[in-house]
Amino acid sequence: MSRFMNDKYASLEEYVPGEQPTDMKYIKLNTNESPFPPSPAVFKAVNDAEIGKLELYPDPECGSLTKKLAETYGVEPENIFIGNGSDEVLNFAFMAFCQNGAAFADITYGFYEVFADLHGIDAKVIPLKEDFSICPQDYMGIGRAVFIANPNAPTGMQLSLEDIEAIVKSNPDNVVVVDEAYVDFGGNSAVELTKKYDNLLVVMTYSKSRSLAGGRLGFSIGSKEITTDLRKIKYSTNPYNINRLTLVAGEASLNDDKYYKDNCQKIIRNREYTVKKLEALGFEVLPSKANFIFARTDRMSGDMLYKKLKENGILVRHFTKERINDYLRITIGTEEQMQALVAMIKKILEGEAEAR
Ligand SMILES: *Cc1c(COP(=O)(O)O)cnc(C)c1O
Repeated sequence: MSRFMNDKYASLEEYVPGEQPTDMKYIKLNTNESPFPPSPAVFKAVNDAEIGKLELYPDPECGSLTKKLAETYGVEPENIFIGNGSDEVLNFAFMAFCQNGAAFADITYGFYEVFADLHGIDAKVIPLKEDFSICPQDYMGIGRAVFIANPNAPTGMQLSLEDIEAIVKSNPDNVVVVDEAYVDFGGNSAVELTKKYDNLLVVMTYSKSRSLAGGRLGFSIGSKEITTDLRKIKYSTNPYNINRLTLVAGEASLNDDKYYKDNCQKIIRNREYTVKKLEALGFEVLPSKANFIFARTDRMSGDMLYKKLKENGILVRHFTKERINDYLRITIGTEEQMQALVAMIKKILEGEAEAR
């Protein structure tokens, strides 16, 4: 760190993204990206004509994409806020709505803690139950902004809409943010509830189910008032937060919904396959509604299995946090990738894998 760094950021613990090594070609099951390319409509939309307009700023209102998202989700454009990845939407939500502090689970998306820390927000970290489920009572009338990933990461487990509604209802004077990054893989969305509760913000991303992690596109659906608050923060930080090419890619992908729905179905099928195979090998796998699974085995430590998989060309995610350091978070990829994973795990557990 330089001697110029502001003291208030000096002790920040940064978010650590999943590794993106380039030393060899890996089967990459560590950052919950889609194994499928963007839809053909996206290839057509991001064309020479669009590149030819890059000398001009993009539309700061994201008007066309906003309208399209509103139609897709059955809400008004005033209910939509678009961010440079949902990480940006979440960051703005932490800035806008956490005057009374924030509350989130001990095991959840790691960025919540980083954002709270970045903005000097008092954070109440609430342990998940022994079985890694969220105890809704812990959040009732909590008197601060609530952040819930649903399905949760890295567990993949889902909280029911009834429980979400009860939490939202019991905190009328604070915003409840439901982060639905993984909702398209079999979860239940709380979007309809945003019409009934002005304190509910549902956050979604193009990075997982829509094959656009590299485009950086996320959005939220919520009441007109809280959406206006997010816009105020955006116009005070980066009005042109979404680049031209991403705007057209995002809009084109909404025109090709069947392509993405089919891909999600494939992921769900591959998830069920992988769970079955790993359970047969003696793994304990948490019930997942996401495009990843969270699994452990008594036969080898999480750390060791992670390392051996990596040596053999398969990347998965391992967390060092004590409560979950025996688990691996495995992104669900193509059928072939999952077959390769299962075969390699089998080989490793039988002591037959050799380091390359
Ligand atoms: C991946 C992820 C995000 C961030 O997604 P981007 O849109 O790529 O910024 C947000 N929340 C959760 C729970 C995630 O897993």
